[in-house]
Amino acid sequence: MFISPQITHHGAVNGVTGSCHQLTINATTSVLIDCGLFQGAEISGNPEGDGLAIDFDVTHISALIVTHCHIDHVGRIPYLLAAGFTGPIFCTEASASLLPLVIEDALKVGVTRDKTLIAACLKLLKKQITSIPYKQWFSLPVNTISESVNTNSYITYRKAKAKFQPAGHILGSAYVEIDLAEPIFANTSKAINSINNFNGSITNKHRVVFSGDLGAPYAPLLPAPKSPYRADTLVIESTYGDKNHQSRKQRRQNLQGVIEKAVNDNGVVLIPAFSIGRTQELLYELEQIIYQQSVQLKKGQGSRQLQTMWQSIEVIVDSPMAANFTEQYKKFKSLWDAEAMHKVKAGRHPLNFEQLYTIGDHKQHLSVVKALAKRNKPAIVIAASGMCSGGRIMNYLTQFISDKTTDILFVGYQAQGTPGRDIQKYANKYNGYVTLAGQKHYINAAVHSISGYSAHADQAGLINFVKRMRHKPKHIKIVHGDDSAKNMLQNCYENILPASLIEVAE
Ligand SMILES: [Zn+2]
Ligand SMILES: [Zn+2]
Repeated sequence: MFISPQITHHGAVNGVTGSCHQLTINATTSVLIDCGLFQGAEISGNPEGDGLAIDFDVTHISALIVTHCHIDHVGRIPYLLAAGFTGPIFCTEASASLLPLVIEDALKVGVTRDKTLIAACLKLLKKQITSIPYKQWFSLPVNTISESVNTNSYITYRKAKAKFQPAGHILGSAYVEIDLAEPIFANTSKAINSINNFNGSITNKHRVVFSGDLGAPYAPLLPAPKSPYRADTLVIESTYGDKNHQSRKQRRQNLQGVIEKAVNDNGVVLIPAFSIGRTQELLYELEQIIYQQSVQLKKGQGSRQLQTMWQSIEVIVDSPMAANFTEQYKKFKSLWDAEAMHKVKAGRHPLNFEQLYTIGDHKQHLSVVKALAKRNKPAIVIAASGMCSGGRIMNYLTQFISDKTTDILFVGYQAQGTPGRDIQKYANKYNGYVTLAGQKHYINAAVHSISGYSAHADQAGLINFVKRMRHKPKHIKIVHGDDSAKNMLQNCYENILPASLIEVAE
């Protein structure tokens, strides 16, 4: 049997949130890959019940490696610091810029309004963040131990190094390659057995790849992830292990169609969206539609009325956080894909077009809601939270959800138990309503859902990630997915690799 190093999962096993994996390097050294929050219905699935606790010993954890800044991958970092973790927090340069913003927001929303407490946490965090460029090896701190210490059945190591590779999921996202070297064995016969079973060849290195969240190949803005050259052990996400996305073109046509229908009656179009990633993808797509329509208008092709509408419609991003993240996306233009760079060279501003308005403070937000209620002109509003469970979208919903001219457009997954899910479910039902901040609101707005604006690779993408490796893994652990997604992906991998190598993590 092939012997893998020990990997323990502290989250993202029975679901997609709470990502936190522990790789044991030797008896006194482990590293964590991500330290995220549990969310939605998955909170109660966590043994501690609140989704926050660090329910494992942190004394031997020498470093934290962050794959990307989504809250379900980084949200438990303040609790990790509180538990006494003082090691480096390795992440890419863009993630290093985003991480303090994300943690600050998470603390404000979910933990405390106490400014000194927040400042103290951020100071600690910034001290521990160590930013590393993509594609560059860096060594991981490993404690030295004597030969005799290794008594467990896993191979342990004296040395470890890691490297970030672009994952194409959100700005700064990475999958991480970890090379373990100089194995330590409790006794020589075990050593020889293990080495001989290592793919039949003698080697003293083992490469573990953690996928983090992988991007979709045709997502706007960021280049698609390239498969690793090799992996011995692969820990891979499976969010869409059972689905394939619509094509990019089809998705954009859907978006355009829904908006064109929606604005016919001069109502508002509300798009609940989370601030990192999806908001920027939507802006990018809207800029493309507006641009195309202006080209057609000049050529005198198509519907003049619709083209004129596109040239005048206001796109309002009502979220100071989203604005911050958009700034970071602009700052790290070097990470954009070829198509996006081509637009920039042609003088276009994919994330900052003329009709885009960003709302800053709360007073401004309230006056925009009021002004929109009074006028008779369409507008598109993008605001968080993506599942309508808080944030500025709430004021828009309470104001507009009972209005027939309103359209609500969902672009992301709505988890069980969220108001977003209720709106999807009870729209178009007789007397359908949703409870928002304790009050009942009838849903007279038209409700649409577009799938495919997901920053995740679909089934085909997850299969190709493995298929295109030069040296395929000898052990795959499937994490970060619902049961059906994990099982379906397992079946797919069994078509390309022996079934015994593939395991659904528990
Ligand atoms: Zn993510
Ligand atoms: Zn994730």
